Amino acid sequence: MARLPHALREGIRLLDVHTHIGVSPFLYLTHAFPYCQSLRDAHDQNLRAGVSHAVVFPMGETVYYHLPSLAKNQIRAEGGLGKVPFAFENEHLLRQLYEQFPGCRRNFIPFVMVDTLRETKAQARFLEKLLETWRFYGIKIHPRTTHARIATLGREGRPLLEFARAHDLPFLFHAAWPGSADPLSNIQELFVLARAHPGLRFCGAHFCSFHLPTWETAARLDNVWVDSAAMTIGCECVRLKNGVYESGPSKVPADYRDPPAVFAELARRYPDTLMWGSDNPFHTWVSTQRLSSGKWSRCRLWSDLEREVELLRDVRGALRRKVAVENALRFLEG
Ligand SMILES: [Zn+2]
Repeated sequence: MARLPHALREGIRLLDVHTHIGVSPFLYLTHAFPYCQSLRDAHDQNLRAGVSHAVVFPMGETVYYHLPSLAKNQIRAEGGLGKVPFAFENEHLLRQLYEQFPGCRRNFIPFVMVDTLRETKAQARFLEKLLETWRFYGIKIHPRTTHARIATLGREGRPLLEFARAHDLPFLFHAAWPGSADPLSNIQELFVLARAHPGLRFCGAHFCSFHLPTWETAARLDNVWVDSAAMTIGCECVRLKNGVYESGPSKVPADYRDPPAVFAELARRYPDTLMWGSDNPFHTWVSTQRLSSGKWSRCRLWSDLEREVELLRDVRGALRRKVAVENALRFLEG
């Protein structure tokens, strides 16, 4: 069991399990928004919005990748910066937290980010060294941005899995429902890993894409949790029927014009599985992408941290404590 230190654990009233800092080279190079956030900005927003603690990790890609390829949404793992994937981003985050802004330490629970497909042995060795200097409490994986499907953690990513086991660190995956256009993040592969490794803990981000059968499976697994990251714009996607999330008959029944009502329904159905998370700053998503058809797709979805906190509006008492704090502590500490 991995206990958070007392100084970090005391005074937890609202724990955001999903916050990013740093820079996303891909989003920057493709003129998307947001593409960066500093630790201090995230800290100040948290104080204003009443978020007492936040799990924080880097953004989606690493400067280890070859930047001209990344701008074309291709991953080439040579010609970039740093010793291994995410070496720069992980060290940067921990230096910001422990050296540059130690006043922020009581607000943040740092996770590191990994690439589950490339240089995984060397990444595990690097993280082992990093842990001698600075503590971190979990591992974030983004299968879509690293172009490495979830299942690779059990294969090429095995050294990272064993590193997590040795230090009792949980995994938080960006995840999507089986009907998604993103097969790399298919949450079914997370369920396979969770069954194969009952001693490890897993979170699938993004509310199972509102897909009811996926929620039912997640809720049956004791070592799986699900977060609400970017749920306000998620409800907007359902209303737009843009295909990002389930918007047909298999969605969790609720009024998607009212995101807090959707969150309350998920909390009622899955009181031990749901964890509140904002995805700050990616509660907002603005991008312009050229599709393979040659057409341009424009996406403008706006939220802010206050609106993500507002998701908890209708959840009170012991249930609020569970989804706002206690489930996250079980995920973090075991
Ligand atoms: Zn995220």
